[in-house]
Amino acid sequence: MNLTRVPERIGRLGELANNLWWSWNDQARKLFRALDYPIWKESGHNPVKQLSWISPERLAQVVADPAFLSLYDSVMAAYDEATSPLDHTWCHANYPNLFSGPVAYFSMEYAIHNSLPIYAGGLGVLAGDICKEASDIGLPMVAVGFMYPQGYFHQHISATGWQEEENSELNFSEAPISQVRSPGGDIALARVRLGDIDLALGAWHVNVGSTDIYLLDTHLEENPEPYRQLSARLYVSDRELRLQQEIVLGIGGVRVLRALDINPAVWHANEGHTAFMTLERVREKVATGMSFAEAQQEVRQTTVFTTHTPVMAGHDIFAIELVEKYFQSYWGQLGIDRRAFLELGWQGSPEPQSYNMTILALKMADQRNAVSQLHGQVTRKMWHGLWPDIAEEQVPISQVTNGIHVPSWVAPELNHLMANYLSENWLTRHDDPHLWEKIMEIPDWVLWAVCQRLRRKLVGAIRERMRSRWLEDNVPWTHMLVMGALLDPEVLTVAFARRFTEYKRPALILHDIKRLKQIVTSKWHPVQIIFAGKSHPADLASKNLLQQVYKIAADREFQGRIVFVEDYDMHLARYLVQGVDVWLNVPRRRQEASGSSGMKAALNGVLNLSVLDGWWREGYNAGNGWAVGSSDAAASPEEEDESDAGALYRLLEDEIVPLYYDRDVHGVPCRWVAMIKETMRSLVPAFSARRMMKDYIEKLYRPALQR
Ligand SMILES: *Cc1c(COP(=O)(O)O)cnc(C)c1O
Repeated sequence: MNLTRVPERIGRLGELANNLWWSWNDQARKLFRALDYPIWKESGHNPVKQLSWISPERLAQVVADPAFLSLYDSVMAAYDEATSPLDHTWCHANYPNLFSGPVAYFSMEYAIHNSLPIYAGGLGVLAGDICKEASDIGLPMVAVGFMYPQGYFHQHISATGWQEEENSELNFSEAPISQVRSPGGDIALARVRLGDIDLALGAWHVNVGSTDIYLLDTHLEENPEPYRQLSARLYVSDRELRLQQEIVLGIGGVRVLRALDINPAVWHANEGHTAFMTLERVREKVATGMSFAEAQQEVRQTTVFTTHTPVMAGHDIFAIELVEKYFQSYWGQLGIDRRAFLELGWQGSPEPQSYNMTILALKMADQRNAVSQLHGQVTRKMWHGLWPDIAEEQVPISQVTNGIHVPSWVAPELNHLMANYLSENWLTRHDDPHLWEKIMEIPDWVLWAVCQRLRRKLVGAIRERMRSRWLEDNVPWTHMLVMGALLDPEVLTVAFARRFTEYKRPALILHDIKRLKQIVTSKWHPVQIIFAGKSHPADLASKNLLQQVYKIAADREFQGRIVFVEDYDMHLARYLVQGVDVWLNVPRRRQEASGSSGMKAALNGVLNLSVLDGWWREGYNAGNGWAVGSSDAAASPEEEDESDAGALYRLLEDEIVPLYYDRDVHGVPCRWVAMIKETMRSLVPAFSARRMMKDYIEKLYRPALQR
């Protein structure tokens, strides 16, 4: 990036653009918006691009504008405080001497901002939110992942309602990343053996406040061509390529940190994909003369493993032949033989049949956790076989319920409102339940006016997307209908936005078409439903579900009140969780580990309408949203669908719609607003990433460090 053009008075704009801290600070966002609004919009809110596109004339204008300069100065002061030595933070105040080195966090994906599209969904959002919150509370953290140039696909829906995938290539020079070089100036930082190949690894550095993320890259000239593509995409279907990626992330990730002279005090594996990092650390110790058993013991003590998958089929499992192919030259370096190596990824007595990454991680980490209370129970039951001699409740896997990074997901309008009514510095105290008692002091009409404004913003943003599709592709009218042409900003708006996958039951609400039609097309009290979400490219069943939704949305009789918005990503998610009235979530019971989009909705005063699964089992209190059906498992999936669909329609007909349209003389739905307040009061502090990170530190990192 050429930054020499930026006048010296505002010379640190480039530094700010290259630290994604700006993305969760309203004032910093405002600064880039003020810098050049059209370019800000056109760059997709990417200040790195913005600074390379902006004209010298515009720069000269802003540097002569006292209002801009004063905003610049206050943003830079806040930035310096947020990224300076961490001695004013919660972590320092409470645990000044706990961390002798950073927490090394390993994850396959990170969702930090749309200008860095290296995520697919919830797992990435969690990892991104953890990096941001670590920075906010002063937890030293280095994170390791991949710099996928193609990231995850973009979704296009054809005129027949079929999902098409488009992979675009990220221009690295326009992303907030910088290439890391070794002390000797090399791009290759480390090497990893993959079969016959010695693969060289590079890395890109990302600043997320004071958290450093290192993203591995195999696209180096010295690597043979096919291997350069190893890090091209996230979640490839090919099992061998997937194993290669996990070797690079786990083993290569440790080596890259060593090459950069980073010495973590705790190692945190996010999901089983990253578990090879534990083996590499054993190898290092064995190379210094330790036995495998001693080395394993030491590695386990300082390793934390978080599992996210309540469904057996969802775990990462490799065929024995593949594992042998890539590890036959490795197990000797661990001081163990083939059998002992394979048993690390296998549970039970007969000869190992496959290699399970979750089992490996469970055996290599002393601190293990699931991501909600219910998921903790499910997980302890699932892995009881690894600890056959103790009772199921004693299985040593605890839980830390997920949370969301509040500054990233709160609407700026609500941020402003909270600053007025809760406390000027509410964001620094947002996990304090007492602070939230004051939400009752906000006049109903004031809060309602903000909700209405956010709904209008959402409808405006959806129309803007449609308008460009209309201009670019001349899509047919029914397609415009599906994409939201007839959305009405005054109507009760429900969102179903999540990955399209069978267990999330996107089509549940279509169970009884006639009844649904009556609900949504009611003349005086209508309801509109916005769907969004991607199907995995190989998942035809889920693509069929998507097409089913599309056909209903395109049906004239639904009057344009059912909508499907393409290409669900963080940017669209922000609009949806901030702008709708009701957040719908109906996964099959025991299949959602936690879920987090409903937490984002709650933060923005959107009421949850959800099955009592995942986080909602602990969040729901009978006054802060609705529970679909009971918490008991049904006899069969068909029965579960039948009774949940019935419950869903009943709730909409008898409770939700009447409550929403019950207005006072000024048009304010006072009882609805009371539920919004109860939602925010009861859910925001408990399901914040701040509460989550404090739990990680106290329940998992501290025991790992204090042995
Ligand atoms: C929050 C989020 C998710 C995760 O939401 P779930 O509730 O787990 O479905 C997925 N994708 C995006 C883009 C998100 O912002």
